[in-house]
Amino acid sequence: MLEGLKPGRVWKYFEEICAIPHGSGNIGAISEYLQNFAKVHGLAYIAEPCGNVIIRKDATPGCEHAPAVVLQGHMDMVAVKEKDCGKDMEKEGLDVAVTEDGQFVYAKGTSLGGDDGIALAYGLAVLASDDLAHPAIELVATVDEETGMDGAHELLAEDVRGRRWLNIDSEDEGVLLAGCAGGLTQHSVFPVVRDTVSGDLLRIAVTGCRGGHSGTEIDKNRANAILMLALLIREMDCGKMLQPLWIAGGEKDNAIPTSSEIVICVNEYERYEVCRAFDRAEKNLLEAFRRQEPEVAFVLEETTGGGEFEIREGSYRVMNQTSFENVLNFLLLVPFGVSAMCVEPAGLVETSNNVGIIRTVGETVVVDSSVRSMIHVRKQQLGDKIALLTMLCGGIAERHSEYPGWEYRPESPLRDAWVATYREVYGAEPKVETIHAGLECGLIIEHMPETDAVSFGPNIFDIHTTAERMEIGSVERTWNLLVKLLERLGRG
Ligand SMILES: [Zn+2]
Repeated sequence: MLEGLKPGRVWKYFEEICAIPHGSGNIGAISEYLQNFAKVHGLAYIAEPCGNVIIRKDATPGCEHAPAVVLQGHMDMVAVKEKDCGKDMEKEGLDVAVTEDGQFVYAKGTSLGGDDGIALAYGLAVLASDDLAHPAIELVATVDEETGMDGAHELLAEDVRGRRWLNIDSEDEGVLLAGCAGGLTQHSVFPVVRDTVSGDLLRIAVTGCRGGHSGTEIDKNRANAILMLALLIREMDCGKMLQPLWIAGGEKDNAIPTSSEIVICVNEYERYEVCRAFDRAEKNLLEAFRRQEPEVAFVLEETTGGGEFEIREGSYRVMNQTSFENVLNFLLLVPFGVSAMCVEPAGLVETSNNVGIIRTVGETVVVDSSVRSMIHVRKQQLGDKIALLTMLCGGIAERHSEYPGWEYRPESPLRDAWVATYREVYGAEPKVETIHAGLECGLIIEHMPETDAVSFGPNIFDIHTTAERMEIGSVERTWNLLVKLLERLGRG
């Protein structure tokens, strides 16, 4: 399908990779493929216990004295498909194709995995070449980046010689990433005590918020549907008339939630008053959020089915008032959004929090918050603040999935080499930025502090979705940049 695209040697490997199923957690076959590649080309390789594969190639003549360079990408992709797509992504390869205008490569009905298959394709093309000049090369292919950076966590420093690190896992041509935020998930567990009551069930919901990525879109002034529900309830001011069975919202801790709901039991005498309070609160909130969230809607409707909290129809186990107030107070006070901006580089987010998920699990309500910061201490402080608030509201705080940031280095010879090569190839000035999201470089530098790293890659749009597409011209230009950069790094 991709014959005729340039550079042919890169697309050849990309197409081979696409033919192998390689969603996160399903990396056996792709790992085998990489090891086979090494054997066929007579290259030394290491398969680490966690599944990472490292392939080595010697320097080309004249570049032997130059320090080794690492090309790095992750093996796994986010495997998603359209509702009506019958493909079994665990077992079948992708149907890659070129868009009608000839500009993009995509996969029919599924995500493409340009993130990060293109890094491996570039790496294999360099390893297979006999016409390029480069220092000693190591291709480091990590496992399960998309589900917690497991491969980068478990990478063994002694398996990698190179300390000049080219991470090819960014999707914006012309932008060089030179730093990223670290993160942690703050888990707040609120025990609830339940009473048995009888009455009718009502469902109150918030829908239609824009949402977005909890890192890169945290500064886009989007409202949080979970916190908006808390505001609505506060605004209704109904005290003990609201007797909640459960509260729920959000899907991932790293996405700004777009909807949320609470199911309550009301007795027939108070029902009218609750509906009036809702109407009043709805009006006030629409007024407050109209400009920020034009599509937001508030719903009050009758519902049936109290799930595990239904004793029999008309009789339910509901959270008692103190239990629910604890949860509500937490939601009204927990910080959301940007809490500090960077001093340098200016204009970028330094520290933030997203309240991503709330769910009711039996006798507990659980809230997950995703804290990010470019500065380690600030990340800890914001995590502590949420933990402290959790405890003040009667909950138990736990911390999960902490990963380090990658701090911007004032001096980086590798960054200088990349920028100089970019100017030479493009005749233009690149942007050098840091990103308010996680990259594997943070963990790599934690294992090997002397590592000098940069992150870049060709244009890929709508990653992690079925609309993912990779720009063909950009893949070629980025390859030319990589070839020239390796040539330059081969000189010293
Ligand atoms: Zn990626």
